[in-house]
Amino acid sequence: MSKPRVLFLYTGGTLGMLRRDPGPLAPSFVAEDILPFVRGLEVEVEVQAEVLYNLDSSDIGPDHWERMAEGVARWLPEFSGVVVLHGTDTMAWSASALSYMLRGLDRPVVFTGAQRPIAYVRTDARNNLIHAALCATMSIPEVSIYFGRRLYRGNRTTKVSIQSYEAFESPVYRPLVEMGVAIRHTAPPLPAPTVSMRVATGFERNVVVMQVVPGAGPAIIDAAVLTGARGIVIRGFGAGNVPQKGWPEAIRRASEQGVSVVLHSQCLRGAVDLTAYEGGRAAMDAGAMGTGAMTLEAATVKLMWLLGQGLGGDWLKAAYHEDVAGEGSADGAED
Ligand code: ASP
Repeated sequence: MSKPRVLFLYTGGTLGMLRRDPGPLAPSFVAEDILPFVRGLEVEVEVQAEVLYNLDSSDIGPDHWERMAEGVARWLPEFSGVVVLHGTDTMAWSASALSYMLRGLDRPVVFTGAQRPIAYVRTDARNNLIHAALCATMSIPEVSIYFGRRLYRGNRTTKVSIQSYEAFESPVYRPLVEMGVAIRHTAPPLPAPTVSMRVATGFERNVVVMQVVPGAGPAIIDAAVLTGARGIVIRGFGAGNVPQKGWPEAIRRASEQGVSVVLHSQCLRGAVDLTAYEGGRAAMDAGAMGTGAMTLEAATVKLMWLLGQGLGGDWLKAAYHEDVAGEGSADGAED
């Protein structure tokens, strides 16, 4: 019986870095150098490696997301799945972006990386890569992140630790798979698509994220509009609340100028509900949309993507509340 084929698509990150002496960790590897480090994997999976680019993920943005999605779409038909090797810092952002762009995805695209370079003795890269490759052979037709011991839905995931080997969490959605001695499928994957795959590129770059500070006025909203923002993500308090003094008016001014405003929360768990308190309600009446149970990364990239698809005003509002790739579904959410 022929073995499943998996593509390693290399984009950079700590996994392939080395320390310059003296100096910080910097990109060094190319993908072909990685295969000897996962020796033994070939017993179960046939692996091919391609280099897309070699960057610290802090330098990755919408142009790179689009090249990533186009690379995945080009190679995917020849493979059971793709593993995207990526820095951990912005992995959740890139995974969210690909989850929106890859319409009709019918097989796994698994992001993974490492906290320690693969050339180090105590690396976590080997474990992550091997398990990500196995996940890429499963019937999980969505963009995911494998890290530590778990496979997560990519657009439900956020980086929570700078040093731990358990760097990611999916705060409001169960992991898809847990890898122990046994492999446990712990949440249902997205259903298989009914349409064939296409890549929907296009992101608005002028989207800003701002955080409400107790007692601070809303001048940053007006400043963002003045400097050309087309979308604003506000990290409010609790269920998505902003101070009632000045903030709803500023949100209204932004909305009237065609700027889309969404309200997120400073909390990690739970779902934003703008009807719960007066501060959220006033923001909603002024034109803000709530982000529900989305992560900050998924909520922000969704706004960038919908604006980039040419949507605005009420069309964008309607689309923002639609689930695109499982980013806001309640299934598996905490009570
Ligand atoms: N700065 C690195 C990156 O995101 C961190 C990592 O890969 O863990 O590329």
